[in-house]
Amino acid sequence: MIAQQALLPPQSLLADREAEQMGERILIIEDEAAIADALIYALGSEGFEVHWCHLGRDGLDWLQHNPVDLLVLDVGLPDTSGFELCRQIRQFSTVPVMFLTARKEEVDRIVGLEIGADDYVVKPFSPREISARVRAILRRSRGPANGSPAPAEATASLFEHDQQRRRIRYHSHWLDLTRYEYLILSTLLQRPEHVLSREQLMDSAWDDPSANFDRVVDTHIKGIRAKLKRIEPAHDPIVTHRGLGYSLDLSNRQARQ
Ligand code: CA
Repeated sequence: MIAQQALLPPQSLLADREAEQMGERILIIEDEAAIADALIYALGSEGFEVHWCHLGRDGLDWLQHNPVDLLVLDVGLPDTSGFELCRQIRQFSTVPVMFLTARKEEVDRIVGLEIGADDYVVKPFSPREISARVRAILRRSRGPANGSPAPAEATASLFEHDQQRRRIRYHSHWLDLTRYEYLILSTLLQRPEHVLSREQLMDSAWDDPSANFDRVVDTHIKGIRAKLKRIEPAHDPIVTHRGLGYSLDLSNRQARQ
């Protein structure tokens, strides 16, 4: 952390802090005006700056040209599916995405596919529920409060965690992680050498505690491992503890030197 933050010019740190204090910007991509109106009203009255696009392509264009802190994305859009749109967005952005789904079955796809969603809500929903979830996602995506210590970063030279930009470096290479992979790996990094259960890892990455999908964690761990392996094939710092969970082993940090 120290090294990375030192690299940032002071102005950009200042700008980040200022942005955090201003209204956070939410983009809604939803074709049903009634739903969009309810969301705009609910989120707007909580102080969020809300922009609405009713087509996927307009939303994509808006995202490419405007700062957005969170995206509320309808799965069923007239010109594309929310899943496909999310995949495209993930090519260039790690913006938190909350899906709006019309059917329960779509939830399985959100969970099962690695499309990097942060949460989902099944219609019909209450605007208040959406506001609460949006706040939770934003709180989580901001990470630990500014100035709070990040113990792992001080010790883990194998990994370098840039919390401002939500990215992690491994053996000096920036990892191209999905949202879940990032959240899981950053949770492991916060408590190196500690065994964290799948539940603990899931809690850190997922708002809905009823969504208890152990295999989802395994899938994301597999994805993280593959990415780490591409950089350093000889070493797997993630340790599996059968029936317990996972931990991060930083003891091989000199492996390369
Ligand atoms: Ca729709």
